[in-house]
Amino acid sequence: MKHKHLNSFMKKLLFAFLLAFSLSGYAQLKSPADFLPEYGKQVSFYHEIEAYFKYLKENSEYIKHESYGFTSQGRSLNVYYISTPENLKNLEAIRDYHLYSIGMTDKKPAAETEKAIVWLSFNVHGNEIGAAESSMKVAYELLNPQNTTTKQWLENTIVILDPCLNPDGFSRYGNWLRDISGKNLHPELTDREHIEPWPGGRQNHYAYDLNRDWAWQTQIETQQRMVLYNRWMPEVHVDVHEMGYNEPYFFPPAAEPFHDFITKPQRDFHNVIGENTSKKFDAEGWNYYTRERFDLFYPSYGDTYPSFNGAIGMTYEQGGIGAGRAVLMQNGNILTLQDRINHHTVAVLTAVETASGRKEKLIADFKAYFKDSRQNPKGKYKTYVIKNDGKVEQLAVMLKQNHIQFAYADETKKLSGYHYQSDKEKAFSVESGDMIIQASQPKSVLTQVLFEPYQRLSDSLTYDITAWALPHAFGIESYALKNALVIKTRESKISNTKVLPETAYAFYIPWNNRTSAKIAASLLKKNVKVRYSKKNSAFGDIKLNMGDLIVLKSDNTKLPEFEKTMAGLLAEKNDYSVIKSGFSTDGTDLGGENFQLLKAPKILLLSGKNVSPTDFGQVWFYMDQIIDYPVSILDADYLGMINLTDYNTLILADGWYDLSDSQRKSIDDFISKGGKTIAIQNALSLFENREGYNLSQFATNEEKDAAKKQSDEEALTSRFKEYQKTERRSVSNGVPGAIIENVLDKTHPLSYGLGDKYYSLKTSDKYFKVLKNVWNVAYVPENYKSYGFIGANLKKKLGNTVSFAVEPVGRGKIIYMIDNPLFRGFWENGNLLFSNALFLVD
Ligand SMILES: [Zn+2]
Repeated sequence: MKHKHLNSFMKKLLFAFLLAFSLSGYAQLKSPADFLPEYGKQVSFYHEIEAYFKYLKENSEYIKHESYGFTSQGRSLNVYYISTPENLKNLEAIRDYHLYSIGMTDKKPAAETEKAIVWLSFNVHGNEIGAAESSMKVAYELLNPQNTTTKQWLENTIVILDPCLNPDGFSRYGNWLRDISGKNLHPELTDREHIEPWPGGRQNHYAYDLNRDWAWQTQIETQQRMVLYNRWMPEVHVDVHEMGYNEPYFFPPAAEPFHDFITKPQRDFHNVIGENTSKKFDAEGWNYYTRERFDLFYPSYGDTYPSFNGAIGMTYEQGGIGAGRAVLMQNGNILTLQDRINHHTVAVLTAVETASGRKEKLIADFKAYFKDSRQNPKGKYKTYVIKNDGKVEQLAVMLKQNHIQFAYADETKKLSGYHYQSDKEKAFSVESGDMIIQASQPKSVLTQVLFEPYQRLSDSLTYDITAWALPHAFGIESYALKNALVIKTRESKISNTKVLPETAYAFYIPWNNRTSAKIAASLLKKNVKVRYSKKNSAFGDIKLNMGDLIVLKSDNTKLPEFEKTMAGLLAEKNDYSVIKSGFSTDGTDLGGENFQLLKAPKILLLSGKNVSPTDFGQVWFYMDQIIDYPVSILDADYLGMINLTDYNTLILADGWYDLSDSQRKSIDDFISKGGKTIAIQNALSLFENREGYNLSQFATNEEKDAAKKQSDEEALTSRFKEYQKTERRSVSNGVPGAIIENVLDKTHPLSYGLGDKYYSLKTSDKYFKVLKNVWNVAYVPENYKSYGFIGANLKKKLGNTVSFAVEPVGRGKIIYMIDNPLFRGFWENGNLLFSNALFLVD
């Protein structure tokens, strides 16, 4: 910040301050520019950012460091606590009292010390480098002994500063920019400095967007950060981003739609931030806007997630993506990295100043929020009952990560409640072992946001998914009750400790969750022969459903100490059992043809510039981390240079493949000779309307004519629409992301284990009417249920469309995934559906 009109009195005063501070030993704290010669001119290396913070830590009493983990590539994740030395000494006592006062811990604190807690998150998107660069300047301004103003804020405020949430993405971008930078700047658009190569630095190692992952916590960076977040529960969370470089600065208030559960104090604080920050930007003559973009709805962002945890969650955006070191903007100005740092620094410091200035109100509002959460939950439903099912295991993991409290029923009760799967009130009984989640708890709002069947959208112009109810995502039979359920509960499911039998005829492994797939993968890696069940059957108490796995002793005579070895291999899957005889009590025997051998997939996944990085990343992450199974990855450009017969499974993630005729022919040959291809979303265009495939948008001329008639009608009715309504018009033809009911062919292996129905997350307006000569395994019925926003025109077209289909071609087959079951990795039933495609569809 500049002081243009210092009078001589002020100068003397400043001199006195300087003298005082120099005597105290902390007079000369180096700014980032003093420490890093290229600061503001070139992107910093990640180790330089670490080094600067280490320097600050060693030269100031106002900062304390905590490492909270490591990225996939082994880079360190860090936060820095910035406050007065006295506050830092009492950090634990302040934290204890804070958590105690909102009911997040029963532990009585040693002292009652209240401070505002402000968490600053920088650079969750790796290529938005102005963010991490400005974190150093922000820290410096807070610590600089000569800046007495910031010291006053720190009297009543604890700043938790995370310089870079995504060091792997930051380094991918930064190392590349360094690599291609010459001595001269080239702000003109044509230079490669402004065109980042695939997959880009925005995402993390597995090409996951960490700013869509806050609630789902699929990624290691998020998981480790959220442990710390829940230890602190900040009152203010600032999420620092960048966007296209021609955009002026964006700060709160956020745009509509706000989720219904955002409170008035939260909205009010947004407005105060808007007023305070705009004054600073007006004084500097900087361009900015508020309220037009970046809504508060989808719960997994760095602004919404903190908001549903009681905080003031805010996104800050500076133009900068693709700007490199300097870029010429449309208005003729040159935007430099230094400009980006300057804007962020002023905006973020204003957030700290505002929080400090309103400390008392912030704390009072925060406490009231949590009191309300415990005593008066906002939503329609007060208790959620999740039926005991193999899929509950992963749900429990996710709830724990979010500190959502739950328990398991310890008695049976007859009740009636809203049944998610049929969208109706229904009588049912709670059985011992069912999961019980009460809405009245500290994390009440988050719980209700995640479990509400219908989210309330104040405006349809949102750019993300609009439905995410966990019972549909996990595919578990669930109920919601309007009144709080009083029932005896216990903390854990009773797990029967396994007594290993001396002899087993076979091991039975239920096919019901991601662990089933992981176990199948690990058995196949060890050359264990595994069978899966193609019909329902029973062996005494053990009921086998289609898809369940069987490991026969007679198939595995080479396995030493069969019983002991198998028990070891199955340790992770606690619901397996031992079958003592192959003679069935119902259905067919284990030796018969209904128990088919699993084929070990040899998988090739295509990557490269025409493949969507995040969708590619979801497949890679599923292979590498969820089931831990090898996958070969090859740039699509090299297709045709390798022997596809080395593989038996080809995966084409969502993308805009630009393949030559001979490359397409190599895929055709691969399939017809017995290969399996899984094509997701836009990869389907490689097969659409091509000879040899039955993939076509309409199966009959009547369907084609009806669609044409509808679009003609739409064109006629929209003739009198105003120009300014164009954006709205495009909304009525699209779907940002909604849940759609699908009927299953329960006898097809692609549907095994999914339940009675499949609720698919639809994120694209591309649709195919139920296909001819193909197994339409999951399709949208004529009068379908849906949750979330679907444009009115599109909604009429989705009846009788297919979501997942299998087409036999020659000796092989192709699996069409019109929707992406691996979307952001949180659709747990989608993970299982993908596992079916990989292992069970043969
Ligand atoms: Zn961003």
